[in-house]
Amino acid sequence: MRLLVVEDEPTLCAQLCRSLEAAGYAVDSAGNGRDAEHLGREEAFDAVVLDLGLPLVDGLTVLKRWRAAGRTMPVLILTARGDWHERVAGIDAGADDYLVKPFHMEELQARLRALIRRAGGQAANELSCGPLVLDTRSARVHVDGQPLTLTSHEFRVLAYLLHRCDQVVSRSELSEHIYAHDSDRDSNTIEVFVGRLRKKLPADMIETVRGLGYRLRAPA
Ligand code: CA
Repeated sequence: MRLLVVEDEPTLCAQLCRSLEAAGYAVDSAGNGRDAEHLGREEAFDAVVLDLGLPLVDGLTVLKRWRAAGRTMPVLILTARGDWHERVAGIDAGADDYLVKPFHMEELQARLRALIRRAGGQAANELSCGPLVLDTRSARVHVDGQPLTLTSHEFRVLAYLLHRCDQVVSRSELSEHIYAHDSDRDSNTIEVFVGRLRKKLPADMIETVRGLGYRLRAPA
């Protein structure tokens, strides 16, 4: 899962990015509204954390432009304490949730998990596919109750496939959702990650759909 963090306060931005990366997400960040608008329009994010008070273009305008351009990713806005009319305007502009500053990182993470889950049509914190279970709160994966040891990229690939269990996911879609913008993207490495995951998972759980991509499915 890939996130965009839009926050112009450098310390808070770095803190957000660090804690979300530690939770297993690929994270991009923007420190002003113009960069944010561009990234959100051009790149594929599973959720966005958007501060409303931003230089160059304010957060509300950024959000309205994304929605007008047909971008539907879940957006959680950050607002100043007591500014209730800003929250109302944000939700009216297409925000899915909000947090008032200062907030606890745990609450932000829980709200993001809920947004991503709902966007994928899931109601529970645990996603499963056959013997495979992902606990989105702890970012741990178990097979038949046994913990799987995964690298961060293997985790991102598997988590994305689990959020779309039984659906075909193309290599380019996978690579868009597991890498941050500034990283070296090579769709060949997706094959490497899938190859390693196959060795760790029960046989045939990751099916190659020729010419289309991969599908995670419960073993027959
Ligand atoms: Ca701000």
